[in-house]
Amino acid sequence: MVNIAERVWDVARSTPRRLALRSPREISYGQLRAANQRVAATVLASGRGPHDRVLLIAPSVPEFPEVYYGLHAAGCTVVTMNTMSTAHEIGYVLDDSGADLVIVWHEHVRAAAEAAGGRDIEVWELGEGTEMDGAPAAPGGATEAFEHDPQDTVVILYTSGTTGQPKGAELTAANLVDTADSFRPVLNLTSEDRLGTALPLFHVFGQAACMNTFLAAGASLSLVHPFDPDALLRLMRDERLTALAGVPTMWNAMLHARTALAPGDVASMRIALSGGASLPAEVIERFADRFGCAILEGYGLTESTGAATFNDVNREQRVGTVGPALPGTSLQVRRPDGACADEDEVGEILMSGPTVMKGYWNRPEATAEALDGDWLRTGDLGSLDADGYLRIVDRSKDLIIRGGYNVYPREVEEVLYRHPDIVEVAVVGVPDGYYGEEVAAVIVASPGVELDGEEITRWTKGYLSSYKVPRVFSFVDQLPKGATGKILKRSIDREALVARR
Ligand code: ATP
Repeated sequence: MVNIAERVWDVARSTPRRLALRSPREISYGQLRAANQRVAATVLASGRGPHDRVLLIAPSVPEFPEVYYGLHAAGCTVVTMNTMSTAHEIGYVLDDSGADLVIVWHEHVRAAAEAAGGRDIEVWELGEGTEMDGAPAAPGGATEAFEHDPQDTVVILYTSGTTGQPKGAELTAANLVDTADSFRPVLNLTSEDRLGTALPLFHVFGQAACMNTFLAAGASLSLVHPFDPDALLRLMRDERLTALAGVPTMWNAMLHARTALAPGDVASMRIALSGGASLPAEVIERFADRFGCAILEGYGLTESTGAATFNDVNREQRVGTVGPALPGTSLQVRRPDGACADEDEVGEILMSGPTVMKGYWNRPEATAEALDGDWLRTGDLGSLDADGYLRIVDRSKDLIIRGGYNVYPREVEEVLYRHPDIVEVAVVGVPDGYYGEEVAAVIVASPGVELDGEEITRWTKGYLSSYKVPRVFSFVDQLPKGATGKILKRSIDREALVARR
């Protein structure tokens, strides 16, 4: 019998006054548990209970964990969604998941109300201090958390993949607890740790890999919302953070932030956890120079509860890899014919272990495609070295095939990131009548700097074979980003790039 809320409440039982959240306001574990109990009692009083789906739409504010663990305690299945979601997107998730209640942060109520209105679905407006407008009055608080069967679906997270409609990845009670348990030893995590993050808690990385892991260990969270690199830097200094978690675009933004820190200001920092997208080696070097702290890279998917590998702090760090498998997880790299690849040979990455999802909600066909027995097919390309360190080459869907040659966008991006005047870049394939595909670079230059295609060609030719050199360029003020701040390549308008040639 397991429940992630119970794990957090264990800390509250032994050390109720310990801080669970430091910023933007202080909340002790005892207070967090009391808020969870109120939420659980309210949900139960509304007639809902174990296995009922409830949609939570909230940003990274303290009320998120107050409601989230409250719903888990009541035994509900928690569906979380991006706060930017439109009424249409929310409607889709309501229909697909069968949720009949939306708890939505007051700033985002309009789209949720529009979606719920036509469907006769209840909306509770979540305010500061976990006021829930629209909820029934509930006497006292639920004292016990529901005892889940380990295989119960307790979270559904929608992931879009490349094509088709979003699918709900079903994460089980055991998936959540096992993710928290598998990160703990590789981070040497203790209750003294203080994590600062601007990751959205509605996404698996912020939610399962960070919030659940750190709170189950009795550590504290400092939340930044919305993402502001200067605010994170000040937090590092003022809250004496020991850890940060983010995606590569966030580290990049911190390197370009205005706030100046003295070396002593960040002496408490132990680790910066990076995931979600490939981390350019250049960013690791600059970050270590500036803040004296290593960024350690890990790899995971929504379908693996955000977990799979991590550059274990107790083992040798191999830059350019995402580390070995987390405890309990196994990795395989397979050739297109399904045979296992050799050491260092690139193929599709598969994983199995306690953090792999149960399947996609109500989608047996998609589940059968994603899960080959116990093995989750990731759609990512990579290789394993002799010591089991995984190197991500790229997503198979992002691979560019130019005139029959494979071009891995990540390799080209690495080279472009070395350019002193490039802040951000995305390399994508665009249709080409002769080569099939051509290599295109969409570039954000440093403020006030004018770059042109000639300069990019000169720079890349110094490092790369001719067929990998971008021939199509676009200079933009910003790149499209997803919920976590990950660059969204699928939102880049490839037709417009071609037209620009
Ligand atoms: P969406 O749900 O919008 O389609 P997504 O496909 O990015 O988003 P997520 O589950 O958020 O889905 O992200 C998982 C993917 O992120 C992985 O399949 C991999 O491609 C990429 N990824 C995660 N960590 C890393 C990493 N360290 N290096 C490179 N890629 C990574």
